[in-house]
Amino acid sequence: MKLEIFEDNRKRDVIKVDSSPQDLDVDSKEFSFCDEIHLNCNFQRDVDIVSLQCEVRSRVRLECSRCLDEFERDIKEQFSLVARRLRKGEILPDYSENEDDDEKNLIIIEHNTNVIDVTDLVRDAVIFSIPFNPVCKESCKGLCNICGNNLNEKECGCKKETINSAWKDLSGLFDK
Ligand SMILES: [Zn+2]
Ligand SMILES: [Zn+2]
Repeated sequence: MKLEIFEDNRKRDVIKVDSSPQDLDVDSKEFSFCDEIHLNCNFQRDVDIVSLQCEVRSRVRLECSRCLDEFERDIKEQFSLVARRLRKGEILPDYSENEDDDEKNLIIIEHNTNVIDVTDLVRDAVIFSIPFNPVCKESCKGLCNICGNNLNEKECGCKKETINSAWKDLSGLFDK
């Protein structure tokens, strides 16, 4: 995903880019996309330095970690970055030893380019927005651990008293 932020003398603006999930090259068993990737960036430019506030939105298909049913969910994540364009004749500084710059998402481009590539940052934001243990709904009852029935659909009638009766036996100990 590429953004043209140095193309003219705009001081600030909003850029919207839609891109296909294939461009992000995310290969995950945990989710698949059911929408394009929408990127919305506010930028502020001071000659050769541009600060960007970006928001990524899309919709993904996930598998519920309790009942294993598939469901769709909107995702949204924000990130910021600074892009700096080198002046003519300026040599690319060595930033590799400075971890602070890494945290700030600093992108440095050659003086004769107008475009920054934010594919990696967008990919990270998308992956970060995916819940670790997704549930189709908070009230999801999951699967019966005896027969595997989806308890959201019907009660299977399996005995689930094992824990309760164990507590009953234990509580008897304290009566004595
Ligand atoms: Zn579920
Ligand atoms: Zn059951």
